[in-house]
Amino acid sequence: MKLKPCPFCGGTRIKTRRLSEMLGCPISELDFYKHCKDCDACGPLGVRPTSAGALWNDRVSDTNPTDIRMVARPHRNPPSSRSSR
Ligand SMILES: [Zn+2]
Repeated sequence: MKLKPCPFCGGTRIKTRRLSEMLGCPISELDFYKHCKDCDACGPLGVRPTSAGALWNDRVSDTNPTDIRMVARPHRNPPSSRSSR
């Protein structure tokens, strides 16, 4: 399966990860997800690597590139602080 580039950084180094492996314990059957090595974005969970790949490819519609669904991106930069006085 050919994976689409990352919607955030355009990276193509997309790897399959297992949630149970990351947590160190078995979880639900939804265990596989795609992970962008370049910006750490994570795709939706699937029961198989292939379904996780399909979900990853589906997360952005080709007709509407801004329609980014179900892709979690960790905060690289904290939200700008408003506490300064
Ligand atoms: Zn990325």
